[in-house]
Amino acid sequence: MTRRPIIGGNWKMNRGTPAEAKEILEKLIPLVRNINSVDTVICAPFTALSVACEVVKGTNVKIGAQNMYFKEKGAFTGEVSPIFLKTLGVDYVILGHSERRDIFKETNKIINKKLKTALSIGLNPIVCIGEHLDERESGKTKEVVQNQINETFKDLSNEDIKRTVIAYEPIWAIGTGKTATPEQAEEIHIYIRELLAEKFDDDTAEQVRIQYGGSMKPANANDLLSRKNIDGGLVGGASLQSDSLYEIIKAAENSVK
Ligand code: PEP
Repeated sequence: MTRRPIIGGNWKMNRGTPAEAKEILEKLIPLVRNINSVDTVICAPFTALSVACEVVKGTNVKIGAQNMYFKEKGAFTGEVSPIFLKTLGVDYVILGHSERRDIFKETNKIINKKLKTALSIGLNPIVCIGEHLDERESGKTKEVVQNQINETFKDLSNEDIKRTVIAYEPIWAIGTGKTATPEQAEEIHIYIRELLAEKFDDDTAEQVRIQYGGSMKPANANDLLSRKNIDGGLVGGASLQSDSLYEIIKAAENSVK
């Protein structure tokens, strides 16, 4: 089965003014205009989403948010409703990024609630999972990933999980310049697919797209993306420059057999 590759740029809180969003996107759009076998998604801060959605209208670039609240409306000062995102023209939302889990104490339970709301509203979720360095070094990677999958994807239907993109991001590789080797990444991607097959079924597991994230850049993208179970990338640092993100998107295009 062939899964359509998906490359997501995560600007984090590094770019987020309307002018910055416009500049990066206006450079990226013509570069990827003819790349139709890869989904390209830019996940921008809330402050840039309105402009970003306007700039990408009519192009093959989609916009994602980096977070949302699990309620649609109400007295939740400072939070952002998924309905507001959808209304702007946002298509994707990153949920449970390790920075949200570690710094803002988001639990699997909270991420599960956000995931169900995103799906019910028609936003495409990109759900991040992955282990810390001490967990990898003590041989607990699979246990951590299994627990995240069981709790984050609790009570999801087969159709729900098929619409969910999973980003396997070993936390020790995020923003550190240390990349998991293609073998290390592929091993965990295969394991994630096995867990999905047990929890849902084989056919469903085959259809779920699993991105790798953690210091992906033009120099290592080909090697990572050519692995059978690596269906794309979630890219932080290298997404801040349109040309380096374009190189990664081209690597994803070349990985399509
Ligand atoms: C990320 O933000 O999810 C990420 C993988 O960052 P980086 O590519 O900078 O490691």
